[in-house]
Amino acid sequence: MADINPFESLQEQIDDAAAYTDVDGDVIERLKRPERVLSTTLSVDMDDGSMEQFRAYRSQFNGDRGPYKGGIRYHPHVSEAEVKALSGWMVYKCAVVDIPYGGAKGGVAFDPRDYSDSEVERVTRAYATEIRPLIGADRDIPAPDVNTGQREMNWLKDTYETLERTTEPGVVTGKAPSSGGSAGRVEATGRSTMLAAREVFDYLDRGIEGATVAVQGFGNAGSVAARLLDEVGASVVAVSDSQGGIYAADGLDVAAVRDHKRETGTVGGFAGADETLSNEAVLTADVDLLVPAALENAIDADIARDVQADVIVEAANGPLTPDADDVLTNRDVYVVPDILANAGGVTVSYFEWVQNRQRFSWTEKRVNDELERVITDAFDRLVDTFETYDVPNLRTAAYVVAIERVAEAFDDSGNWP
Ligand code: GLU
Repeated sequence: MADINPFESLQEQIDDAAAYTDVDGDVIERLKRPERVLSTTLSVDMDDGSMEQFRAYRSQFNGDRGPYKGGIRYHPHVSEAEVKALSGWMVYKCAVVDIPYGGAKGGVAFDPRDYSDSEVERVTRAYATEIRPLIGADRDIPAPDVNTGQREMNWLKDTYETLERTTEPGVVTGKAPSSGGSAGRVEATGRSTMLAAREVFDYLDRGIEGATVAVQGFGNAGSVAARLLDEVGASVVAVSDSQGGIYAADGLDVAAVRDHKRETGTVGGFAGADETLSNEAVLTADVDLLVPAALENAIDADIARDVQADVIVEAANGPLTPDADDVLTNRDVYVVPDILANAGGVTVSYFEWVQNRQRFSWTEKRVNDELERVITDAFDRLVDTFETYDVPNLRTAAYVVAIERVAEAFDDSGNWP
């Protein structure tokens, strides 16, 4: 993984796009850094009676278009720079799909796999207690991210509601259905990845059916994207997780790979594969479509030079370094950027929040239909901007759309101390 500061990557992406807009330079400067960042240390009791300390953050990047919104990550690499970048990407993601939110992100620097369930629960409740003054259904709404899911969101909601002596399910999204979660939320990031892939292949007059696909990362986003791409007729020939990759020339049985990973913890050793591949070999496999679905900076300029796919759809946040982006633009590889391709997660979070506020649940079909409308509308607007603004790539087009929307909201409401 390239050692690039993701916050600097975000700022570079904003500068690249700002040059194509009429937005005032002072306003652009304001859109390049978070409004506030909480940096804190959690002291948590361990099962053996000792006490451990954990670094934790919440960055609220921009709230011009609505409440701050974004996930919480549990990973040893979590840092202030990473959380700041991820919170900025949330601002532009919500703007590009036109849902009424700003952007935020949080994280705790630890690997939850090294801790018992009750220790992870105590870390989560300690974190929820720290961020309680910052969050609320109309203020800042956390959600899952890497290594967090329904379980952690249920604990967060319960901690908040207990301390506030209220019921407020919309304070956090990505909950289990029994705690007020939405149908379709778990699948939503993978679903928008599939929809974005289908749209870009249509745009290129190729059709997704029969396209060969490599998916790097087999967590929530990657495994669902692989399954849904398989369902629309693509052939998933290579997948990897943090421990390595597998390849099958005639296509992998994605459901069977998922069962294998559930049983053994990794895709490696799957009996239906022709061969094992390194993580890098999956990124550079001879396929039509590459889906990076792991962490940021997975593809640097060196790897980008060896990428054989001619379309990349980013399920992860920030998987390409800015240098990799330049290489791929020069090589005419189409990259559907993260802020659109993986926006299904936050879009269905928005639907969950709407349902929570109405105390009324939608069917899964309604969720998926509305999601498809949001993603295809955003894709159409993206392509329109790509063609009319003469920008070098789809990422810059996405930032042009997003920056203009955020700047318009700021302009409409005016600057006020
Ligand atoms: N963590 C997800 C993302 O990066 C979802 C955020 C949300 O649902 O608020 O988009």
